[in-house]
Amino acid sequence: MPQKTKETPMMQQYLDMKKENPDAFLLYRVGDFYEMFYDDAIKGSQILELTLTSRNKKADEDIPMCGVPHRAIQGYIDTLVDKGYKVAICDQLEDPKLAEGMVKRGITRIVTPGTIMDESANTATENNYITAINRDKNRFGLAYADLSTGEVKVTSVDNFMDLTNELQNLNTKETVVAEDFPQKFLDPIKKIGILVSTIDSLDENFAFDYSHVTEELQVDTVKTLISYLVDTQMRSLDHLKAAETYKTTAYLSMDHTAQSNLELFKNLRTNKKSGTLLWLLDETKTAMGGRLLKQWLARPLLNQTELEKRQHIVQVFLDNYFQRSSFQDYLTKVYDLERLAGRVAYGTVNGRDLIQLKTSLEQVPKIKEILLDIGDYDLDAYIEQIDDVSDVRKLIEEAIVDEPPISTTGGGLIKEGYNEQLDKYTDASKNGKKWIAELRAQEQEVTGISNLKIGYNKVFGYYIEVTKSNIDKVPEGRYQRKQTLTNAERYITPELKEKETLILEAEDKSQALEHQLFAEVRKAVKEQIRRLQSLANVLSQLDVLQSFAVISETYHYVAPKFVDGHDLKVVNGRHPVVEKVLSNNSYIPNNVTFDNETDILLITGPNMSGKSTYMRQMALTVIMAQMGCFVPAESATMPIFDHIFTRIGAADDLISGDSTFMVEMREANDALKNATKNSLIIFDEIGRGTATYDGMALAQAIIEYIDKNVQAMTMFSTHYHELTELESQLPGVKNVHVDASEENGTLVFLHKVLPGPADKSYGIHVAKLAGLPDEVLSRADTILSGLEDTAPKGIKVEDAKPVVESEVKPQPQPQPQPQADVETVNEPEPDSQLSLFPELDAKP
Ligand code: ADP
Repeated sequence: MPQKTKETPMMQQYLDMKKENPDAFLLYRVGDFYEMFYDDAIKGSQILELTLTSRNKKADEDIPMCGVPHRAIQGYIDTLVDKGYKVAICDQLEDPKLAEGMVKRGITRIVTPGTIMDESANTATENNYITAINRDKNRFGLAYADLSTGEVKVTSVDNFMDLTNELQNLNTKETVVAEDFPQKFLDPIKKIGILVSTIDSLDENFAFDYSHVTEELQVDTVKTLISYLVDTQMRSLDHLKAAETYKTTAYLSMDHTAQSNLELFKNLRTNKKSGTLLWLLDETKTAMGGRLLKQWLARPLLNQTELEKRQHIVQVFLDNYFQRSSFQDYLTKVYDLERLAGRVAYGTVNGRDLIQLKTSLEQVPKIKEILLDIGDYDLDAYIEQIDDVSDVRKLIEEAIVDEPPISTTGGGLIKEGYNEQLDKYTDASKNGKKWIAELRAQEQEVTGISNLKIGYNKVFGYYIEVTKSNIDKVPEGRYQRKQTLTNAERYITPELKEKETLILEAEDKSQALEHQLFAEVRKAVKEQIRRLQSLANVLSQLDVLQSFAVISETYHYVAPKFVDGHDLKVVNGRHPVVEKVLSNNSYIPNNVTFDNETDILLITGPNMSGKSTYMRQMALTVIMAQMGCFVPAESATMPIFDHIFTRIGAADDLISGDSTFMVEMREANDALKNATKNSLIIFDEIGRGTATYDGMALAQAIIEYIDKNVQAMTMFSTHYHELTELESQLPGVKNVHVDASEENGTLVFLHKVLPGPADKSYGIHVAKLAGLPDEVLSRADTILSGLEDTAPKGIKVEDAKPVVESEVKPQPQPQPQPQADVETVNEPEPDSQLSLFPELDAKP
C-alpha cells in the first residue's frame, strides 16, 4: 500500500482499519456504497466484475477504488467468501447527518469461509467446520467448530499426515493457527485449498467450558479456535457447546482417499451426492438428522455394544411400522433446532423463526407418546432423554402471533393479551381509525360533500380530500388547504391534527414496545439453548435410526452379526448403490468368505466382469455394519474392522503432486505398514501403473508380505494371471474369479464370483467382440500359447520372504522404473513411521 505523507481524514481512518485487517477485503461504508480501495479495489473489481475507478483523480496520487451498493452487499460478500477470501465490513456507527466532523466508523462483522452461515436449503445438511491446529513437538492438536450448530470438538494426532487427513475428512475451508506455528507445515495445507488464518494472541477472558479437555495441547488448540471466533464474530457465542474430545482411533479409520474412492459422500464422476452411499442411506426427515448421518458415515464405530444398541433400535422401527410412520410424520414438522438455537444466541432470530421453533416443539410430546407406545426398553432410554422444553413452546405461543412479519422492528409481532400496555396502544390506534371514519361521516354531513374522503400520506399525515367540483362547499376558515391535485384539493383541520398526534404516538410507542417485548422473549428462549440443543441431539439420532430402518426395509437388508477373529461370511451380498441403480433386480448377489486360514482373496476375471464392484461391495458393507445399519446381504457375520485401506482407481495426489503410480505405491505402503489383523485391505489391480513384470513382481511381493507380516483381510484383484499360482504356495491365499461365458460369440458377464482362478484367454475374446480382424486374433492365440510354454508361471515363493526384485526379472526391463518407487515396497521397515511428509514428520 502506498505510503502517503498526508491523507484526508477519511482515508486515514480507512488505512487504520485496513492495518487491523490486512488479510481481509475491507468493505468501507461511504454513503450508500461500500467501497474498496488500493489493492483490494484492484483485486476485488476483477473478482466481482466491478468497474475500477479512482479517488483523487486529479491529484498526483490517485487511489484505485470500486464500490457496491449497500443493499446488494450480501451477494458480493458471499462471492468473495465462496472463493476462499475473508471480508471485513466497516459500517458508519453514527448518522452522518448528525456527525460532527468525521463520521465514526467501525468493523461490525468479519465474514470468513469457515464461519459463514449459509442458510440455503441445499447446505442444510452440510456442516461448515472451522478448524484450528497447533503443534507440540511432533504431536498436533486439531479443534473444530460449526458456528451454526455450536458443536466444538478437539483431538490430537501423532503426525502431520494424520493431521492433513483429518482436515480433509472434515472438509474444512479455513484453519486457524497461532503466530508461531511453523510455516513449513502451512504450505501443504494451503495447497489443499484451506485458508490459513493467524491470530496474534489468545483470548483468555472468554467464558468457555473446557472442563472435558485435559491434554494441554488440546486446550491450547481450542483456545486458538475460540479466540479467533471471538475476534471475528463480534456477537454472542453463547450457543457454543462445551468442547468435547475425540480420538481418531476410536473409529473405523479411512483416510481421505479411501472415503473418496468408495464414493461415500461424493460421486467421483459428477462430484454430487447422487450415486453415493450417503445418498442411499439418507432417508432422514430433518436437516439435523441429515448432518448426523454424515458424521456417522465419516466415523463408523468400533464399539460392539454401541453398534448392537443401534441395530436394536433399527429393528424396533422395522417391527413397528405404524408408530414409525407417525414418528416420521411428526419429524417432518421439526425444523432445524440446532441452527435455530444458534440464531437465538446470535440474536438474529426473527418472529418466523420463533414460530418454527414453536411448531417443532409442538411435535415433541406427540413424538414421545408414539414412541412410548412401542414399549421397548432401549427405546424408552432414548425417550427419557427427550425434554419437550414446553416452557419455551408456551412462551412463544402466548407472545408471538401465528404469522409474524420478517422484520422485528415494524410491529405486528406480539399477540393481543400478552402485554397490557401494548394492548392499550393498539386500542388507541384502532379506536383512532374508528374515530377517523366517524369524522369522515360527520364532515360529509356538515358540508354536504358526499364523496369527501380522509386519507393519509407520509408528508402531511391525515388530510381531507375534496374533489374540484365540490370545492365551493368547503367551509371557510376551519379547512386549511395543504395540497392541490388535478381533480381535488387536500385540507387539514385542527381536530384532524389533534387526533392524528394521538394515533401516531400510539403506533410509534407500540412498535418500540413490541420490539422490546420481542427482545425479552428472545432472551428467555436464549436461556434455554442448552436444552434445545440436547433435544436436537436425541431427535437427530432417532431420525438417523429410522432412516436405517426405512432403507433396510426397502432393500431387504439384514442385521450383521459381529464375531471375533477372521470369520467373515457374507451370504448373497450386494453392492448397495449399484443394486439400487440397476433396474429390475438385476444385481447378481455374491458371497464373501474369509476364515482363520484365508487372509487374502485373489480375484481374477475379465475386465468389466465385476471385480471392483465385488471389493467395493465388501468395503461398503463393513462401513454400513459399523454405522449400526443393516447390510445388503441375506446374512452376514463379520468381525469389527479397525481400518479400511484402499487402492482403487487412479488419481494424482493434490498435496504432494505425485504421479499416479507413486500414489499407488504410497497407498500400498500405508496399508502394509499400518494395517493390523483387523483391517480390511482392498487392492484393485495394484502394479498396473508400471511395466508388466515390474508390476507383477511388486504385486506378488505385496501379497507375500501381507500373508506373512500383516494378515489383514485382503481383497486383491489382478489381471496378472500368473499370480493365481500363489494359492498353492501361500496358505492364506485363496483364488476366486468372476465368471463370464461366451455364448454364440458374445462374451456374457455373469458377475458371479466362483472359487478358483479365471480362464486366462478372455482378453482375446473381448478383442474378438470388439471386431478386431481375424488375422490379429489368431496371431494373438498363437503368441499366447507360445508364452504359456515359455514364460515363468510366477516366481516361487521363497520361504514366504518378500521377493527380491532381481529374482523376478526374467528379461531386461522395457521401461526401467525409478528405483525409489520400488524400494519402498521391497524393503519395508516395519518400525519406521509411515509418512507422506517424511521431512515434516521427522523427530525434531
Ligand atoms: P471390473 O472391476 O472387473 O473391471 P466392475 O466391477 O467395474 O468390473 O464392473 C463392471 C460393471 O459390471 C459395473 O459397472 C456394474 O454395472 C456391473 N456389475 C458388476 N458387478 C455386478 C453384479 N454383481 N451384478 C450386476 N452387475 C454387476
